[in-house]
Amino acid sequence: MIGHEPAEAWLRRALRTDRLAHAYLITGPRSVGKRTFALEIAQAVNCLAPEVDDRPDRTCQQCRLIERGVHPDVRVVKRAPERRMIAMRASGSPREYADNVEFIQADAQLRPVMGRRKVYLIVYAEELAEDAGNRLLKTLEEPPPFVLFLLTAIERGGVLPTIASRCQELRLQPAPRGQLATALEDLGVESERALQLAALAGGRQGWAVNAARDPALFEQQRVFAQQLVEALRGSRVDRLVRARALSERWYGHPDTVRETLRVWMSWWRDVLLVQLGLLNRIVHLEGSERDALRSAAANVSHGSAREAAAAIQQTLADLDTNVNARLALDLLLLRLPALR
Ligand SMILES: [Zn+2]
Repeated sequence: MIGHEPAEAWLRRALRTDRLAHAYLITGPRSVGKRTFALEIAQAVNCLAPEVDDRPDRTCQQCRLIERGVHPDVRVVKRAPERRMIAMRASGSPREYADNVEFIQADAQLRPVMGRRKVYLIVYAEELAEDAGNRLLKTLEEPPPFVLFLLTAIERGGVLPTIASRCQELRLQPAPRGQLATALEDLGVESERALQLAALAGGRQGWAVNAARDPALFEQQRVFAQQLVEALRGSRVDRLVRARALSERWYGHPDTVRETLRVWMSWWRDVLLVQLGLLNRIVHLEGSERDALRSAAANVSHGSAREAAAAIQQTLADLDTNVNARLALDLLLLRLPALR
């Protein structure tokens, strides 16, 4: 875990003074390491290391079971894949989803089986349905002393206010590029590649580590950027064809579409940086891609580049609030500036 020094320092202090609240909302950008940090807290409160300062040691039985996701007292609660929200009642999914609030309510009353604390890690707390969230309030407010709730969300504002108000917020910041590159090198990534990955990651260390292990992920980002450049050079009809392809993908593979738009947004941000003279060394791009970026920086006004990045960001947010995906993507593709 890097770039999270304030959060780490907070955890150290909380453990040392034994002053842990019973519910935390861990917020931060996608892939910044929210779930990893939550699991670190779960390990720290259950670790068998005799010295508090050594917790979590990641080697004792408790730590290892949590790491492997099989500790009986640490439950990851998330939406079942076939559902839209984390709901009140069980969906009939395998039990590991524990995607329902009735289960948490009942289970939270039972003492831990082998650890000191029972931990419920609710990932994507934005996906808590309102009735289920309201049902959870009482347990969240006054849980048994051995229960700890950890919720993760991108923004506090995306979580039901009644839930958010009962949690202390811990905000994780993206890792600075240099630190991320160094950390990747420590993992054995060759230094030029570590720089490239750190630049592409935009602070998302989870993504950077995955991409270091999986060259296909790295390659995929280049393909997405290339698709954007082709769209910017394409006719109106060509853009609409691309928009349709994206909206069709949205229904089966929303994460791929999110990732595509995220790459597009960071491409426009790079254009802005080039215009400001802040990105002279574009380490993560090869010849033709670098040329496209320079050409956009020279031919598109700063205002239009900024609007393009903002429009993509807005579309990403809109897609997650169930707008008509086809319409939203059509409009976006038609709005982006043209590149000759
Ligand atoms: Zn341990």
